[in-house]
Amino acid sequence: MAVSDYSSRAALTAVDLVNSHDVMTGEERLASEAAAAELLGRRGWVVDRPLSRVDLERLRGLRPRLRFVFGNAVVRKSVADLNGLLRELGAQPQLTDHDGAWHWHYARPRAPLAERVATTCVVALLTVIADGGAARLRICDRTECGNVFVDASRPGSRRFCDARGCGNRVHASAYRERRRGAGSEGSGGSGDEQLSSQ
Ligand SMILES: [Zn+2]
Ligand SMILES: [Zn+2]
Repeated sequence: MAVSDYSSRAALTAVDLVNSHDVMTGEERLASEAAAAELLGRRGWVVDRPLSRVDLERLRGLRPRLRFVFGNAVVRKSVADLNGLLRELGAQPQLTDHDGAWHWHYARPRAPLAERVATTCVVALLTVIADGGAARLRICDRTECGNVFVDASRPGSRRFCDARGCGNRVHASAYRERRRGAGSEGSGGSGDEQLSSQ
């Protein structure tokens, strides 16, 4: 998928933000300003001053809007919503070389970090769609998991988030099912299940 490093990193930020609220258990992983700063730092954002409560609330509020486009088959609706979000955020795309290399900024100049994160995440998801990857914005196939992910695999056939080992868990239980169905066939090599990490 032809997504530049910059935008894919932002797309992963969007994924992390969405997954920071567990929709299955209600668990809040964006529990504090520090937790939000850590999440952003892990994705390469420079958090040069402590996040405020307002920043934290803004990032939390962004999550349902971002989640909406994952697994949404009505691409036109996803695009309309993300375009609308860019308007709400007052996005102001501009090319800059403040760090020595030309790159895009999407937020208003001197916007607070949470606003820059928001606009950049939205643009990243729109870029995935523009590159023909709408169907790659997915929700994990394991029924008990609500995590989202961007499928950057070449065949585009990834089914699981890997944060919780969902692929392994589903494969392992399918394997147990098959073994139950097949009865005891000894320890033949060809039928052995290879558990993959995804
Ligand atoms: Zn910059
Ligand atoms: Zn999962």
